[in-house]
Amino acid sequence: MARLSQEKINEIRQSVDIVDVIGEYLSLQKKGRNYVALCPFHDDKNPSMSISPDRQIFMCFVCGTGGNVFTFLQKYLKISYIEAVKKVAEIGHVDLSEYHLDVVSRPIVKENVPLYQMHEEAQKIYSYYLNTKLGLEAKTYLMKRHFSDELIKEFRIGYAPLQATLYQAFEKLGFQEIDMIKSGLIVESYQHFDRFQDRIMFPLYNQQGQVVGFSGRIYKPTQTESKYMNSPESEIFIKGQTLYHYHQCKEAVKEAGFIYLLEGFMDVIAMYKAGIENTVAIMGTALTKGHMQALRRLTHHVRLCLDGDQAGQAAMSKAARELEEAGFQVSIVVLPEGHDPDEIYEEHGQEGLHEVLKKF
Ligand SMILES: [Zn+2]
Repeated sequence: MARLSQEKINEIRQSVDIVDVIGEYLSLQKKGRNYVALCPFHDDKNPSMSISPDRQIFMCFVCGTGGNVFTFLQKYLKISYIEAVKKVAEIGHVDLSEYHLDVVSRPIVKENVPLYQMHEEAQKIYSYYLNTKLGLEAKTYLMKRHFSDELIKEFRIGYAPLQATLYQAFEKLGFQEIDMIKSGLIVESYQHFDRFQDRIMFPLYNQQGQVVGFSGRIYKPTQTESKYMNSPESEIFIKGQTLYHYHQCKEAVKEAGFIYLLEGFMDVIAMYKAGIENTVAIMGTALTKGHMQALRRLTHHVRLCLDGDQAGQAAMSKAARELEEAGFQVSIVVLPEGHDPDEIYEEHGQEGLHEVLKKF
């Protein structure tokens, strides 16, 4: 088996620009010949990390963390040196197929693999059912609410039918019962059954874009259950780290130079209908450090757009204060009393929503 020579490692390092690689994870500002960013390795308030394109290194003047592109990825993604080298080779299109670099995957990740697989599978099954006779009424409801086919595809919206479907499918695919229950998709009772039944299903993603949970919405006037039901937290679904639409908004945020922080995923979809894509939503929790770390990787400018009701206002000023303390530039979008973007879109359409947002 060929070993990676120092020469090959240098070639890999030189195949990328450290500025591009770090820029994928942090929001960079040009300062003279260098770039600066808020340091992700300590609780940074002013950009203390400097990245030098000339020397291809980074350095934080406060906590002292520094090194080359491999060091950054190792520390930032908490991966091994060899994993970092592989990752850079991938970015720089350096062929490593003659080297058999077996990377030992971390046990915790390995354990979670079936949970990710089940969510991916569930998403496909729900999508399928939306286009069957069983999902017809749900589909009709979505059409009435201005969900185009393109939008349904973009957000991978589906339908969980009344009869249990996931349990049988998971069993056929050979998943263990213990994992099914851990996933939160199957509920254990006198018999196993699907948590979500007769609901319109919205997949929820982690920051890497993997499906980790769902939100199910009722759609018939006769349904008396709670309007939305979310997956319970699990090994892979952690609300304090979940920002809906995070993995899909990067380009739009870069272009706009700021991000809208919204209250719920339906608001993200309403904004999308109005052509606004630089948005993320928290999933029914207060703003956490984990959320802020994720936001920091995209931009320093946040427009807070939480509910116009009283509880929303209080949550908003708290979130604004915390964001400012963490070094963000924050502006607050006050929506007309008691309204969220989704309701404004429903009542006043694309123009109406643009009109409200334009004021800020
Ligand atoms: Zn630092």
